[in-house]
Amino acid sequence: MRTCRNTRGRMISGSEVYDCVVCGGGTAGVAAAVSAARAGERTLIVERGIVLGGSQTQGLVVPMMPTFAEGSDTPWVTEARSYLRSQGIEPDDGVTGTTWTDPDMMADFYDAVTSENGIDILYNAVIFDAECDDGKILSVLAQTIEGAVEIRGRVFIDATGDAVVARLAGVPCESGNEETGLNQPMSLRFEMEGIDLERLHRYLRDTLHDKRCETAPPYVEVGLARHRAMRYAVEPLFVAGIESGELAEEDAEYFQAFAIPGKDGCMAMNCPELPTRFSATDAMSYSRGITHGRSMMRRIAKFVRAHLPGFENARISRQAQMVGARESWRIKGRAYLTEDDYHARRRFADAVCRTGYYIDAHGGRVGEYLPRGEFYEIPYRAMVASEAANLIVAGRCISVSFILQSSMRIQPTCMSIGEAAGIAAAHAVKNEIDANEVDWSSVPNRSYVSCGAIS
Ligand SMILES: Cc1cc2nc3c(=O)[nH]c(=O)nc-3n(C[C@H](O)[C@H](O)[C@H](O)COP(=O)(O)OP(=O)(O)OC[C@H]3O[C@@H](n4cnc5c(N)ncnc54)[C@H](O)[C@@H]3O)c2cc1C
Repeated sequence: MRTCRNTRGRMISGSEVYDCVVCGGGTAGVAAAVSAARAGERTLIVERGIVLGGSQTQGLVVPMMPTFAEGSDTPWVTEARSYLRSQGIEPDDGVTGTTWTDPDMMADFYDAVTSENGIDILYNAVIFDAECDDGKILSVLAQTIEGAVEIRGRVFIDATGDAVVARLAGVPCESGNEETGLNQPMSLRFEMEGIDLERLHRYLRDTLHDKRCETAPPYVEVGLARHRAMRYAVEPLFVAGIESGELAEEDAEYFQAFAIPGKDGCMAMNCPELPTRFSATDAMSYSRGITHGRSMMRRIAKFVRAHLPGFENARISRQAQMVGARESWRIKGRAYLTEDDYHARRRFADAVCRTGYYIDAHGGRVGEYLPRGEFYEIPYRAMVASEAANLIVAGRCISVSFILQSSMRIQPTCMSIGEAAGIAAAHAVKNEIDANEVDWSSVPNRSYVSCGAIS
């Protein structure tokens, strides 16, 4: 059996089946690949783009939000932070628990660590089909520069964010808010450079008395969210922009920018946030959203340049090469977490990580916090399904409800889930057991051990 061949039969790599095929080399996927490779498994990443990191790099999503849970850092999250430090960025601001990152530095980290661990990567490869037999995935098909190729593996990890492989393998999935059917709004992020961060910070702190201005440069955040109960100090400026006709209502619905330590005068813009009529699961609507998002981006950039102190000489320096989809499809797996598990701060014997990030369903329910320091755990069984024995799902598309997903989707949690997926895949291969039968609580080298009952 061959690992990788195009549909006309020509080999494109290797002579053996990959032990572990990681589908999607993003936030969770790289973590999965590295932990599988470190456990000695021959590993391939199949990635649609030409850089690893997914939302963190192609999507320009920074920084990593805090889990608010002590002890949540699994080894992979710690390693990522250490890498940033080794490159001269101090990712912790000492106040908020946020990990401040740079998309380019994360891409460098992922290049370095996948090379060191001998991981093969197939770039520009879009998975579009899977060959399955008797409840197992035999191969996935991807469109590459050579045409369609078939990739065979023992265990497949679906880290596409969109549950692409799970859907192809017949795993039941759901999407959107259970009541309205709407996905969380997508965003099309961009970066601006030429910003005077000191001036912006002084304006927020001294003129607006912005209570959220807790940190000083290089850690600067500015934002507003008009659908939230809380009122933001910068909001009147944007409302004036609507009244003057410089902004549309939708431009000012959600505005946010984070400085990028290590890139002087540069901010990552967590906007425009697209209206929810643009769907993350309808190809044409999604595509129309991209064009619409770019027009919003241009208006927002022009407006902040004209009116937000510090942005006078700023310009758009980069646009995301990937749509920021907060939520699209989610699998229905062997365990299914809901907000009841969130509020009960549920623990699981097969927990792969813990998180306490708040409920953050943009445009809907937001800002529901657990008591500070409290958290829930995510069980391995939410990453596997009965319908596909050799499939593990990692990242934002695991088996959780719409509201629960709005809490667990943050990057550190997706990274820890990916890390566990790779360890579990290696365990399944070595012990010749189905990945969906792995008992995580008995995996010897697991990255996280449940803390048991609520103390
Ligand atoms: C706008 C926005 C703002 C956010 N803000 C924050 C924030 O400030 N902090 C925070 O911690 N989290 C934030 N998040 C959440 C977080 O970034 C994501 O939930 C998380 O990164 C998702 O990780 P993932 O591994 O599931 O998917 P991704 O990182 O998106 O990776 C999926 C990968 O799969 C690839 N792929 C997809 N389909 C295919 C296919 N068919 N074939 C091959 N490859 C494929 C993609 O190219 C990508 O590389 C935000 C999310 C969004 C969208």
